[in-house]
Amino acid sequence: MDQFDPATVAIKKGGHFIGGEWVVDAAARIDVARPSDGVVYTSVPLGDAHTVDQAVDQATQALRQSGWARMAPRQRARILRRFADHIAADVATLAPLEALGSTRPVRDVCAWDVPFTAEGIRFYAEFADKIGGDVVATDHDHLGMTIAEPYGVVGAIVPWNFPLVMASWKIGPALAAGNAVVLKPSEMTPCSVLRLAELAIEAGIPAGIFNVVQGDGATTGDALVRHPGVAKVTFTGSTRAGAAIMAACAGSGTKPVTLELGGKSPQLVFADAPRLDEVARRIAGAIAGNAGQVCVAGSRLLVERTIAEELLERIEHAFAALRAGATWASGTTLPPIISDAQAARIEAIVARSVAEGAVIRCGGRRADAPVPGAFYLPTILSDVSRDTEAVRAEVFGPVLTVQTFDTEEEALALAAHPEYGLAAGVHTADIGRALRLVRALEAGTVWVNRYGRSDDFMIPTGGYKRSGIGKDLGRQGYEAHLRFKSVLIDTRS
Ligand code: NAD
Repeated sequence: MDQFDPATVAIKKGGHFIGGEWVVDAAARIDVARPSDGVVYTSVPLGDAHTVDQAVDQATQALRQSGWARMAPRQRARILRRFADHIAADVATLAPLEALGSTRPVRDVCAWDVPFTAEGIRFYAEFADKIGGDVVATDHDHLGMTIAEPYGVVGAIVPWNFPLVMASWKIGPALAAGNAVVLKPSEMTPCSVLRLAELAIEAGIPAGIFNVVQGDGATTGDALVRHPGVAKVTFTGSTRAGAAIMAACAGSGTKPVTLELGGKSPQLVFADAPRLDEVARRIAGAIAGNAGQVCVAGSRLLVERTIAEELLERIEHAFAALRAGATWASGTTLPPIISDAQAARIEAIVARSVAEGAVIRCGGRRADAPVPGAFYLPTILSDVSRDTEAVRAEVFGPVLTVQTFDTEEEALALAAHPEYGLAAGVHTADIGRALRLVRALEAGTVWVNRYGRSDDFMIPTGGYKRSGIGKDLGRQGYEAHLRFKSVLIDTRS
């Protein structure tokens, strides 16, 4: 699907999905606007402590009554594979729903978000019977082992930038490991995960095993992470909210918490980097993709001085080819910023950075677009230092800062960020240098001569420093939803 008419997308009255049923309570509601044109297209209830109570209660009962945690893992895997099949087959419904309310162009949602969501669930379905624990080396008279067990009810909170994909990274491993989930989507993108919850029921996941509560962070999210019936919390979002959630988890029973947080990821380009045209396309894509609203956006370009001008010209050329437009229009390659408030924040960071001495090389203002949403031109800021706000702060928009270096040591020093350590990119033909930098960079992921994720779900993702705790994806992402019981048996009696 390349385009659709937003007027034809059927939106159910936004509610919670609890115990296998839509719950539209009388609570206060939050209006939800389409980022492409600002039109309010639905509203969702602001879930409160009572809503969260209901959802956790249903999840707890469902775990007790459905046998989800106790069933043969291969049976759980079978059901989850069916869930994945249903997701993949539902693209005609899911894709417009996702595109309408988010910043994701529908063509990309069809080509990537929906298949990737389905594959994420399928990947973790395959884990269900692979990790059961170990037999541990002991003396001959004892048998020692660990038994992998689910936590129970997992509270999951996700952001708005890839609503379906982010949800799949949370629910896939949690469900495969035998947990029940209460998921809170972002109040800005609440609709598509409700469709996931319906598909889960259709696939045979017992009612109450996967629930969705709607609402904001301060009320609903906070009530979810503090709920005594929630045994584990998994969160993707900003570092600020992650810190608040960690404190809430500590204050309500020392709950284990996985945090996937913000970033300010550097891209190091050396003069020997092969195929400069291709490198420029990569750098441009890594900051302009989803209009920079990506946790691993490559937002700090560090380039060897001798090729800086050549590379920047090529990046500007790639930026100039992008077309701002609605997420439902064909040909849109520069999607909207999620909200006017977020676009204003980007403008303010750029303005303050300019006041600090930064020079706008291209962009630096809102983009003209055929729809009235907030669009921001891909921007390059030069003449910056490590103290410039646009170099320090996560902008979450298509703003690339550029700094030059002469030596590898200098590049490494510039790459270090005082706060973030989510990802980094190294572009060089020198394998020794690449490996040295892979070891030296303080980042949870380092890409060499590429930037961005592949379909290799076994590669985990997660940040160093204040970019997070723990990993999503990979084996680690699965094990994070298990606790391990240690057993030691004296075999002499
Ligand atoms: P956000 O932190 O404002 O909100 C994320 C989610 O948390 C939302 O559902 C929100 O309602 C909820 N929330 C906010 N405060 C809360 C609180 N105190 N208690 C409980 N829940 C709370 O983030 P956002 O603006 O939706 O998303 C953008 C951020 O997410 C960026 O910082 C980005 O880097 C980060 N992100 C990280 C990754 C990753 O894998 N590391 C992936 C995507 C996005």
